[in-house]
Amino acid sequence: MENCIFCKIIAGEIPSAKVYEDEEILIFKDIAPIAKIHLLCVPKEHFAYLSELNGTREDLLGRTLSKIASLAPTLGLADGYRLVINQGETAGQTVHHLHIHILGGEPLKWE
Ligand code: 5GP
Ligand code: ZN
Repeated sequence: MENCIFCKIIAGEIPSAKVYEDEEILIFKDIAPIAKIHLLCVPKEHFAYLSELNGTREDLLGRTLSKIASLAPTLGLADGYRLVINQGETAGQTVHHLHIHILGGEPLKWE
């Protein structure tokens, strides 16, 4: 989608530190990490909110979570990790292309 920063990253128009890519998803390093390891996992298809899930996207989300779990040890997350999906203004969502924050690499506080 035009003017979507994550679509531009997926298209290679904006550089990013990619850590994993397949035909459905891209995982890259967050530009402003809030944990020792802070990755973003994005579906290549542009949609902004979980409220836009349909059957196909539900399947994609399931596969994506499964993929994150299987990649975790190779991403330095063998000891655990936290997944966060910010939705909307109250949550502070700034990029309106669905993304899963993957946080870890150190003990994480819950605050
Ligand atoms: P949100 O607040 O929407 O859940 O998170 C958006 C995330 O995208 C933020 O953590 C922010 O640091 C990250 N981000 C924004 N622009 C860029 C960019 O151009 N490159 C990368 N790698 N991350 C970005
Ligand atoms: Zn997008």
